[in-house]
Amino acid sequence: MTNGDIFRSDMYDEVIRQYDEVAEMINLDPNIKERLKLPQRALIVTFPFRRDEYTEVETVIGYRVQHVLSMGPTKGGIRYAPDVNLGEVTALSILMSWKSAIVGLPYGGAKGGVAIDPRPLSRAEKQRITRRYTAELLPVIGVDKDIPAPDMGTDEQTMAWIMDTYSNFVGSPQPGIVTGKPASLGGSITRREATGRGAVAIASAAMEKLNKKYSDSTVVVQGFGNVGRYAALASYEMGAKVIAVNDLNGGVYNEKGINIPELFKHLAKEKTVKGFSGGDAFVGEILELECDVLIPAAVGGVITSSNAANIKANVIVEGANSPTTLNADKMLRENNVLIIPDILANAGGVTGSYFEWVQNTQNYLWKEKDLYEKLIDVLTSAFEEVYIIAEKNNCDLRTAALIKGIKRVAAAKLTRGLFP
Ligand code: GLU
Repeated sequence: MTNGDIFRSDMYDEVIRQYDEVAEMINLDPNIKERLKLPQRALIVTFPFRRDEYTEVETVIGYRVQHVLSMGPTKGGIRYAPDVNLGEVTALSILMSWKSAIVGLPYGGAKGGVAIDPRPLSRAEKQRITRRYTAELLPVIGVDKDIPAPDMGTDEQTMAWIMDTYSNFVGSPQPGIVTGKPASLGGSITRREATGRGAVAIASAAMEKLNKKYSDSTVVVQGFGNVGRYAALASYEMGAKVIAVNDLNGGVYNEKGINIPELFKHLAKEKTVKGFSGGDAFVGEILELECDVLIPAAVGGVITSSNAANIKANVIVEGANSPTTLNADKMLRENNVLIIPDILANAGGVTGSYFEWVQNTQNYLWKEKDLYEKLIDVLTSAFEEVYIIAEKNNCDLRTAALIKGIKRVAAAKLTRGLFP
């Protein structure tokens, strides 16, 4: 095992493969090149957990990885999923560095996770896990140090518990310790909707370059969590036809277009899209449906070399983190599929977070309308810059986005110099 091998995973290896290719293209300074492959800090914690009905106390494992500390505090979500591991969290923290740099935010990348399936947990169980995990992270998080946010398996309520736990330790309210909080605690509605709406805004700008209209498109959304549902809503509001959506329990199909506001009402009652009367039940491979725009907004690694050839969409908008493997990405590009990569497509999340955090730290409140305008402005400007890089280098958008992100992080590191 070499020094960095503890950080490896399939996802990490893919992230580094992309990075190596881009580092080579831009002649990245060799002093920086190796440095950026490893996170600056990684905290692994274990803690005891009591289920509501328990005979034995369980031990749970959690992580927080901070990739680059050169450009401001670190920033990134916390995920709860059974297969969370150090290698995956590290890979995601590196992607967060590129993502923040692409949209020009003053953050380095971080990610956290707890290896537990949140679905069967009661509210009280989730609360105990979250509060204890937060307590374990105290040495490394802080309003100016590292600011968590929601990711897979966590939500606004999770952020509220983190904020409460942290504030209790500090002895005063600390809304800026997390983003993606409920509005009652200083969270913003724009943040809640930012990832999904931002993805659609970027996709629409990208399609205009191809003389295609997002509003004329048929759209398929995989996953109806925080990202998928607002991507579907934004698509619907623009006039596009959302023909299929699904979640872990089931799916809905309607070739005339699903009424998304009605689906939201069903979701509020049933907690799933399954059973919605405004369409037919959908079972099967949602990613392989005939459509113009496909938005994978569930888990990572869903588009692989095994199903890439079956994908019929013209445009893929990566709402989830790492939904497409690199081999699949290559196959899709060869088939002329336009891919809007995760580090650009879902950057609305961390951008919305940034605005929430700035408001919290300055005790200043913007109107949601102004906030939304700011969000779209940041995202579409970032897209334009990435597009120009892609044209100049005759490369795809993922490579172009990485060029932008990596160059910015490298410049910050080089300018600060070495300590000691
Ligand atoms: N978890 C989100 C992401 O992967 C958001 C991170 C944040 O808002 O800090 O981009």
